[in-house]
Amino acid sequence: MKHHRIRNFNAGPAALPLSVLEEIQKSFIDYKGSGMSITEVSHRSKWFDDVINDATARVKRLLKIDDNYHVLFLQGGASLQFCMIPMNLLGDDRRADYVNTGTWSTKAINEAKIQGKNIQVVASSEDKNFTYIPKEISYNKDAAYLHFTSNNTIKGTQWASFPETDKVPLIADMSSDIFCRPFDMSRFGLIYAGAQKNMGPAGVCLVVIRDDLLKTAPDNLPTMLKYATFAAKNSMFNTPPCFAIYTVQLVLKWVEETIGGLEAMHKINQQKADLIYGLIDASNFYKGTSAVDSRSIMNVTFRLPSQDLEQAFIAKALENGFGGLKGHRSVGGCRASIYNPTPLEAVQELIDFMKEFEKKNS
Ligand SMILES: *Cc1c(COP(=O)(O)O)cnc(C)c1O
Repeated sequence: MKHHRIRNFNAGPAALPLSVLEEIQKSFIDYKGSGMSITEVSHRSKWFDDVINDATARVKRLLKIDDNYHVLFLQGGASLQFCMIPMNLLGDDRRADYVNTGTWSTKAINEAKIQGKNIQVVASSEDKNFTYIPKEISYNKDAAYLHFTSNNTIKGTQWASFPETDKVPLIADMSSDIFCRPFDMSRFGLIYAGAQKNMGPAGVCLVVIRDDLLKTAPDNLPTMLKYATFAAKNSMFNTPPCFAIYTVQLVLKWVEETIGGLEAMHKINQQKADLIYGLIDASNFYKGTSAVDSRSIMNVTFRLPSQDLEQAFIAKALENGFGGLKGHRSVGGCRASIYNPTPLEAVQELIDFMKEFEKKNS
């Protein structure tokens, strides 16, 4: 059967590599001669063990980390991490720093605050409606960690380089840009990412945590909310989201083996972003919403001259096979999410469509 596939610019859940979907389809009924689907085998079986171990090994290779870090596959999405991080890492005698760059940072800050934790917002871009990434971060030297959002999915901003905090470990919500480029993990105590943006389907959240940070949780923390619980059991204290982890495994394999790793991935992502921003910069019709030096290579946010034109643009785009271009409901406008799996050709086709739409409507 011929696929009827649209050019998918959804923000999350988002596009997956077609080759991954095809591999899932091919193996779905009878996984590796087991006579069962991967959604039917025991999570204690050799089949699933191989899946989670391979996914873990790939994360470690991509991030260039060793056994000093633990790779965890958790449920509850990135949103549960907003709570778990202060629960596990921020005892009553410590404080932590947060940078506020938009909706997701704000949620992380609120979840620490409602637990009565001692936190300080040390930098924010709220003064300009979160359209930029703050430059000067005056962190506290005694902070347990500094938390920031590496890519702001809704506002379309992204840290080009990460804050310098000397010995204070960085913690980042990388939900919408994990594995989009290489970075130095040794400066991080913990990173986390809901899989459904850049890495797989909804239902699993990747957490990578440094070994020493497993020991800071209070004794009375419920077992299911402790990182150490999952680190000790290879993420299988209880039944893990097997199918989501399997899909993540295949996407990571695609990044490593088909694309050729994070340097190659970054190059393609930069090409895609340059194409759209190039068009926006050359146009009096499309207008980017984020500061040029803070632009995201994952979520390109832009406006048209009027809301009517934006509506027409989104509708016409869909007619032409381009989906997911509506901006987040909290900000309006348009957004093209161009995560790892979005092929360069999809962006080239979108550019052609945008040029034609501009010609007809300006
Ligand atoms: C989507 C998103 C979240 C929320 O993720 P859930 O898995 O739905 O909890 C958090 N942070 C960022 C940066 C996101 O893009």
